[in-house]
Amino acid sequence: MTLPGSPFLAYRGDDLHLEGVSLKALAQAHGTPLYVYSRQAMLAALAPYQKALAGRPHLVCYAVKANSNLAVLQTFAEAGCGFDIVSGGELARVLAAGGDPAKVVFSGVGKTRAEMRQALEAGVRCFNVESTAELEVLSEVAAAAGRTAQVSLRVNPDVDAGTHPYISTGLKGNKFGVAHEQAVATYRRAAELPGLAVTGIDCHIGSQITEVAPYLDALDRVLDLVEAIEAAGVPIHHIDLGGGLGITYTDEAPPAADALIGQLLARIDARGHGHREVLFEPGRSLVGNAGVLLTEVMYLKPGEQKNFCVVDAAMNDLARPALYEAWMAIVNTSVRQGDAPVWDVVGPVCESGDWLGRDRALNVQAGDVLAVLSAGAYGMTMASNYNTRGRAAELMVDGEQVWVVREREQAADLFKLEKRLPR
Ligand SMILES: *Cc1c(COP(=O)(O)O)cnc(C)c1O
Repeated sequence: MTLPGSPFLAYRGDDLHLEGVSLKALAQAHGTPLYVYSRQAMLAALAPYQKALAGRPHLVCYAVKANSNLAVLQTFAEAGCGFDIVSGGELARVLAAGGDPAKVVFSGVGKTRAEMRQALEAGVRCFNVESTAELEVLSEVAAAAGRTAQVSLRVNPDVDAGTHPYISTGLKGNKFGVAHEQAVATYRRAAELPGLAVTGIDCHIGSQITEVAPYLDALDRVLDLVEAIEAAGVPIHHIDLGGGLGITYTDEAPPAADALIGQLLARIDARGHGHREVLFEPGRSLVGNAGVLLTEVMYLKPGEQKNFCVVDAAMNDLARPALYEAWMAIVNTSVRQGDAPVWDVVGPVCESGDWLGRDRALNVQAGDVLAVLSAGAYGMTMASNYNTRGRAAELMVDGEQVWVVREREQAADLFKLEKRLPR
């Protein structure tokens, strides 16, 4: 049986292991639902980024929103990464994890003044600004604080939707970035505002991208702008090409990060921009295939039209299937011999949208532990407490070692900030 994603995930005998650790044993020891991440898989996913960028000024800024556990952030900080954050909360996490604020870029379409102040005080490397209105506010906040905000404008490269239908954030008509036509004027404005220092340009064209072509299209549009902006007298130091590289959930075949970056750098060099620092903001591609969600089979409900396999993880633990109809592989952590009937794998939440997988051939019995694969990105970070369900515990494995990197939430944790009316 071949599993999508990580080479660190494999059956030893009948028993699914992540690195050197049996997943069923982890579920027995720590309970379910349970997120488990492989430290080596994360570092292995980072390596091709670093290899492709070696020998030129660069920074890989891990996109915190994909998986913001402190131990995950620490792993990337220790490997030399910077961070792409989208809130003051994420900044606090990066600092708590030991990340270097001087390697942080602050993205997002709706930064508050308080978040701007917090980031200026921490000394983040750069604000990725998304509108003229934000630019004016950032200038005010920075000037009032007696600081200089380094800024990059997130430009919307308007990459052709017809050829690349999967791209959702780099098109006219979505909320992100400064329109291509307004970019030069907005840079001129940035250059004259107090409290700001223009340092770069950035774009982020979408997520789960599985082809090189849209990146090259976006890069060409960005380089066109760099040339126009510098001709208008505003120097640009770095180019930040965002994140978005896809992973294999089922049969997608995204380019390897080093192959993608190799092509992008070749284009950058060919167009005479090879002296510039290059930044990337990968999220999913660094952590997605490094994590699994373990869940125990509670009840089997064979039916006339559908067979339901009721498990103890739900849409509150893993929202991607309910939210995006995302397909994520589901396997039994213990191999069973014999037939594999077709099941809908569903959780206990009171919503018909609460499913983790539909029409899955699985040989299962109550008490088995299933693993939802490729759950390392946009899993725990999108988890909620819907139905007053405590969020899952999280573990990190490294070889044979296992660390609890987040305790399971208890019911009392969930309402400790609430108050009864006085009586
Ligand atoms: C979400 C996001 C990323 C990371 O995207 P992935 O698809 O997880 O690589 C990078 N940059 C920005 C601005 C983002 O919003």
